[in-house]
Amino acid sequence: MEYKHIYGPVPSRRLGVSLGIDPVPLKVCSFNCVYCEVAKTTLLTTKRREYVPAEEILNELKDFLHNHKGPLDYITFSGSGEPTLNSKLGYMIDEIKKMTNVPVAVLTNSTLLYLRSVREEVEKADLVKCTLDAAEDKYLRRINQPAKEVTAEKILEGIRLLGEEYSGNILIEIMLVKGINDTEENYKQISKALDSIKADRIQINTVVRPPAFGFARPLSQKELEFAKNVIGHNAEIIKPFNRKTNAAYRTDVENAIIGSIKIRPQTIKDLSEGLGVHRDEILKYIELLESEGKIKEILLNGEKFYKYIEK
Ligand code: SF4
Repeated sequence: MEYKHIYGPVPSRRLGVSLGIDPVPLKVCSFNCVYCEVAKTTLLTTKRREYVPAEEILNELKDFLHNHKGPLDYITFSGSGEPTLNSKLGYMIDEIKKMTNVPVAVLTNSTLLYLRSVREEVEKADLVKCTLDAAEDKYLRRINQPAKEVTAEKILEGIRLLGEEYSGNILIEIMLVKGINDTEENYKQISKALDSIKADRIQINTVVRPPAFGFARPLSQKELEFAKNVIGHNAEIIKPFNRKTNAAYRTDVENAIIGSIKIRPQTIKDLSEGLGVHRDEILKYIELLESEGKIKEILLNGEKFYKYIEK
C-alpha cells in the first residue's frame, strides 16, 4: 500500500522512533513561522475542518501496523502544518488507541488550545508538545506571523489550561531566531509566563534545518546558554539526535541522500520525490549531514540546494 498521510518511522530528537502522521495538507497552518522547516504557509487559517479524511489516515495506519516489525516509540501527529486544524483529531486518536498500545504524540503550535473542544481532543494523546516562542504579541507577530485572530494571550491561556487539565506529558518548545525573538525582554516575558504553566519539560531550540524564510538564522551555543539562564524553569537546550542510538536512523537513507547529492546539488523536494521519502524524514538526515560538514546549502536562482563537500 502506498502511504500518502503517514511517513517514517523517522529518527526524532525527542520521541525516539516516531511514525509521522500528516493530518493537514502542505501548507495549512495558523502560523507562518519564519523558521518553518516545511514551507511558507499557503493557507493561513484557524478554521478547523477535516482537511485530510480521517478514514484514509486510519486505513494507512492499520496497514502500516500490520506490516511493521521494528520498534516504534510514538505515533506523532505533526507533518505539513498544524495538526489541531484537523477537526477529526480526537476521533483519530481514539481509533489509534483501539489499534495499538504505541503512545500517541501531538505537536501543536498552541494556537487553538484556548478552545476547550481542542484541548479535550489533544488530551487523548500521551504527549503534547506545545510551541511557545513569544509571550507578547510584538514577538509573536515577528516570529510566528500568525493568523490575525491569534494572540499571545490566547496561546498562554490555552497552554495554562492544558497544564491544569491534562495528566499526560507536556513538553514546551521555545524556538529562538537571531534578530527576531532573541532578546532578554522576550526571555523574561516567557519566563514569567512559565510561572503559571505546568509542563514536564521545557526545551530551547534554534534553526537547525533550512527555514522557510532565508533570513531566519540560528543562535550560537553561547547565546542559547544566555537564553536558558534567563528563561530558567530548568529549560534545556535541545541536542541533536544520535545516529548510533536512534533505531530509526537508516544508513540506507543517508547513503541514498549522499549518493544523490554527489551526482548534482538537490533541493529537499528533489530528494523527497526522487527517493520516495517524506520531506520531514529527509530533513532529519540533512540536518545531521550538514552539522557534520558533509553537505552544505547553496542558493541557485533563489532556491536552496544541497551540495556534497568533497573531503
Ligand atoms: S513551524 Fe509549525 S507552526 Fe510554524 S508555520 Fe511551520 S508548521 Fe506551522
